[in-house]
Amino acid sequence: MQIFHGRAAGANSDTRTATFHGEVWADPVMPTTDNVTINNVFFPPDTRTNWHTHEQGQILQVLAGQGWVCLEGEEAKAIRAGDTVWIPADEVHWHGAAADSYMLHTAISLGKTVWQDDVSAEQFSGATS
Ligand code: MN
Repeated sequence: MQIFHGRAAGANSDTRTATFHGEVWADPVMPTTDNVTINNVFFPPDTRTNWHTHEQGQILQVLAGQGWVCLEGEEAKAIRAGDTVWIPADEVHWHGAAADSYMLHTAISLGKTVWQDDVSAEQFSGATS
């Protein structure tokens, strides 16, 4: 057993830009342990991940705010505080804040994350209803 205390030394918030649109903040909750990685991810309005997959899937728990999750080939679906999302292994998707709201989610990622291209403005423009 291991206990990972919140805000421990070496677990500072950091900005993620290379694989995100906009400046997204991530707070490590549990470093990768037995292929499980947990981060609290804070998306300011109009920020989001690139398209990506998770080797063994991912669970998102939306803690605050409102945003979107989108599977390739489908319309984006609204998510908000209290929602839990299961993303199966290898499904291409993105997630992020609404244009007019921040979103904070805990991301429990199983296996490796494989990053792809930026979500285009045209693709994001569908996520407005
Ligand atoms: Mn994901």
